[in-house]
Amino acid sequence: MRNFTIVGLPDTSVKESRDRIRAALKNTGFPFPRGRVTINLAPADLRKQGPLYDLPIALSILVSRGEIPAQALEHAVVLGELALDGSIRSVRGVLTTALMARRIQKQSIFVPKENEQEAAVIKELEVFGASTLRELIDHLLHRTQIAKTIYLRRECIQQNEHCFSYIKGQDLAKRGLEIAAAGGHNILLSGPPGTGKTLLAKSFPSILPPLTEEESMEVTSIASIAGELTSSSGLIEERPFRSPHHSASAVSLVGGGTWPTPGEISLAHRGVLFLDELPEFPRHVLEHLRGPLEDGVVTISRAQATVKFPARFLLIAAMNPCPCGYASDPKRRCVCTTMQLQNYQKRVSGPLLDRFDLRIEVSNLSQELLLSEVRSETSSSILTRVIAARKKQADRFFDSACHLNAEISPALLEHVCFLTPDAKTLLALAIESQSLSPRAASRVRKVARTIADLANSQTIEEHHLAEALQFRGQKMQRE
Ligand SMILES: [Zn+2]
Repeated sequence: MRNFTIVGLPDTSVKESRDRIRAALKNTGFPFPRGRVTINLAPADLRKQGPLYDLPIALSILVSRGEIPAQALEHAVVLGELALDGSIRSVRGVLTTALMARRIQKQSIFVPKENEQEAAVIKELEVFGASTLRELIDHLLHRTQIAKTIYLRRECIQQNEHCFSYIKGQDLAKRGLEIAAAGGHNILLSGPPGTGKTLLAKSFPSILPPLTEEESMEVTSIASIAGELTSSSGLIEERPFRSPHHSASAVSLVGGGTWPTPGEISLAHRGVLFLDELPEFPRHVLEHLRGPLEDGVVTISRAQATVKFPARFLLIAAMNPCPCGYASDPKRRCVCTTMQLQNYQKRVSGPLLDRFDLRIEVSNLSQELLLSEVRSETSSSILTRVIAARKKQADRFFDSACHLNAEISPALLEHVCFLTPDAKTLLALAIESQSLSPRAASRVRKVARTIADLANSQTIEEHHLAEALQFRGQKMQRE
């Protein structure tokens, strides 16, 4: 192997590609060249990782030996892993590469057959999926043609099983979820076991508007880098809903690893991150969420490079009010000691709790409500209001970086969360009597902004603010 070197910051996986390329070429009928072969991966200051360079390196060797004319690849981007027998294996990050190919105005992209739908999402590119090196070489030499990939748009699956109309009662919780969906606010659902907290959370995506095309691209790119796309996946069109278990590590939650890969919070980008049994998550793991919840990105620092992944998600968490679960239940007695209660509450830090704008108590339904036949409002009718409220936000923020009320920056707050004098008085009162921190107060104003949007009101009235305070768990009686 001394006569075959790869330079330009390759990691071990790229160095291993020498064996694969040598064997794949040999098994395709091209003996490895005698003499020295040096592959220069440029630019040299960027670390190269993963096996996706196998295929372009193998083709470069063939081009340099005159086996393939250089023009055949002039306007193309190539990526893929080679197996020893010369077949081409799927790789991660195909959509990201295809987006890059479009940006630098390439005409075509050659990808592993298994990844072709992922690349075909980009309409401006000619996509060719190849299964073997032989097949690709024959195509480049015009011996046989690989058919251009046609993007197969998947049937939109209607998730009717999670319609809100199947959830009886819980009007307050549903109202809270509607506000959250409209403005992008985080929610904490609290209540005894068996009250349907998980069902409410799982039904939540049914009242979220569909992804825009741009958002679909972002979501699909992240899933591609994380290796979560299957061979049939094209563009992801449903909002992500991720529910990691409380035993999940910090790395799987926020991302990381030697080659930084996105974690659950990035896979939940533009969608929902649901943390069931919130206090069961280790506190140090939860603390990692604080930054991304503010900034919408997660930064992973490694010796070689710092990677940023988008992580603009809506957080829904669920918890029991106490370890036994029945502290807030009027019918059953809580058996927890004061000590147990204190320890339980300490498991979630104050600063994290502070980021839940809507805290919803979910309680058991009365017997008559359980047995009633009345169906409640459907998700699609709630969604109509959510979309109308989001439209108002889109108009308001058309020239700023934020999209939703939850993302309003401190500088923008005064301008867009304008309070009527009565509302102002009420907020001042809450700050004084409930020791509402400045951060909490501005979060209340953003929720109130959403409530006003849902009511089609330009200004934030007193009752909008009162409802926002109530959802934050603040008492709001005026003296
Ligand atoms: Zn208890």
